Amino acid sequence: MREKRKIHKAKYIAPNGDVSPLCAKTPKAINMKLESWVNQNEGVTCDKCLKIINWKEQ
Ligand SMILES: [Zn+2]
Repeated sequence: MREKRKIHKAKYIAPNGDVSPLCAKTPKAINMKLESWVNQNEGVTCDKCLKIINWKEQ
């Protein structure tokens, strides 16, 4: 099965393992059943995260 989950860039990683994505306006945990994350720019598929990454690199 192809990976269809949205992949966010991680912004905050909590001690309990919850990860808040870069695209969240306020920190919120990613639902790992539906979505995933990476802590580098490569592999990110979330449009909102990609937009933020692109601003920062300009
Ligand atoms: Zn995102």
